[in-house]
Amino acid sequence: MTWSRHGKHVFIELTRACNFACDFCPHPRIARPSGMMSLRDLRRVLDSLQQVPDIEYVMFSNLGEPMLHPEFEQACRLVKGFGYVLYVTTNGSLLEQRHKNTIPMDYWCISYRSTSARAFAHRGVEQSYEEYTQRIAAFINDNTQSVTIYLMGNSEWYNREADFGDALDLTNRREMEETITAIGKHFCPEFSGVEPGAELVESYIPLRPNVFLYTSRICNWAHRVLPAGYRVVPGEPRPCPFGYHQRQIAIYWNGDVSPCCLDYDGELILGNLYEDPLPSLLDRRAPIQSQSLCLDCFGTVVRA
Ligand code: SF4
Repeated sequence: MTWSRHGKHVFIELTRACNFACDFCPHPRIARPSGMMSLRDLRRVLDSLQQVPDIEYVMFSNLGEPMLHPEFEQACRLVKGFGYVLYVTTNGSLLEQRHKNTIPMDYWCISYRSTSARAFAHRGVEQSYEEYTQRIAAFINDNTQSVTIYLMGNSEWYNREADFGDALDLTNRREMEETITAIGKHFCPEFSGVEPGAELVESYIPLRPNVFLYTSRICNWAHRVLPAGYRVVPGEPRPCPFGYHQRQIAIYWNGDVSPCCLDYDGELILGNLYEDPLPSLLDRRAPIQSQSLCLDCFGTVVRA
C-alpha cells in the first residue's frame, strides 16, 4: 500500500440518495443500489481508516446529499471523535439556522452552482430559487465556521458551446466580476466586490474571513456527463494523470471502496471494506488505468 505525497483524502458516502436531479450530475443515471450507511457501519469504516496513516481529511461526499441522512449530526460527531478533519459537500438545500456553529464541521462546502433562477432550473427540484438562496444566506450569516460557496463555470469548448448547466463563462472576466460581486454581496453584504486583477478561476475569493466563493470548472465526470450532441472518443491506457488512484479513496454507503471519486457507478471498485482489510484493498490499485471509465477520462470530446 502506498499513498502519494499529495495527500490522503477519504470520501464517505453517507447516502446515495439525493433530493436534487441536476442535469450536470451523473446521479440520476446511477445503476448501483441506493441506501444509507448506518452509524454502526460508519464506525466500522472509521476503525478501518486507523490502519491507514496520515489521512489529511474525511469528507462526507461522493454521490448523494449527506444531509438527507437522518443521523447526519451524529455522524459528524463520530468522525470528529476519531480526530479527523471533517469536510462536507452539500447542495445546501437542507441547511437550517440551527445547524450553524452546532454541528462539528471543519469545512462546509456548499455546492451552490446556480448563479441565477434560470441556472437553478437545471437542478430539477421543487424548491424555489429564492427559498434556496435565503436558506443558505441565513446559514452563513453569523456563522463562525469555514464555509465555501462553489459556483460552476464553463471553460471547455463543448460546455460553453452548449451552455451546459447554464454555468458561468470562465473565459469572460467581466461577466465573472459582475456575477461574483452580486452573489458575494447577497451572502455577505459587507463584501466590497472583486479586487482588480484578482484570480477568479478555481480560486478562493474571500467574502469575509471564514466565507469564500470558489469558481470550479464543470467536471463532466470522466467525460461521461456531456451536453446533448457530444460524445467522447476513448483514450489509451496510462497512469492516472491526476494521481487520484494514489491519493484518495471513495467509500460507498455499502462499504465498497473505489480509488476514484469520479467512479460514480462503482466501475473501479477494489472490494468491500466489511470483507477485506483496507490496506489489502489499496494494494489492488493498478499502476496503469485501463478500465473503460479511465479510457473515457483520457478521451477526447467530439460532436456526435
Ligand atoms: S477516472 Fe481513472 S483516470 Fe480519471 S481521475 Fe479517476 S482514476 Fe484517474
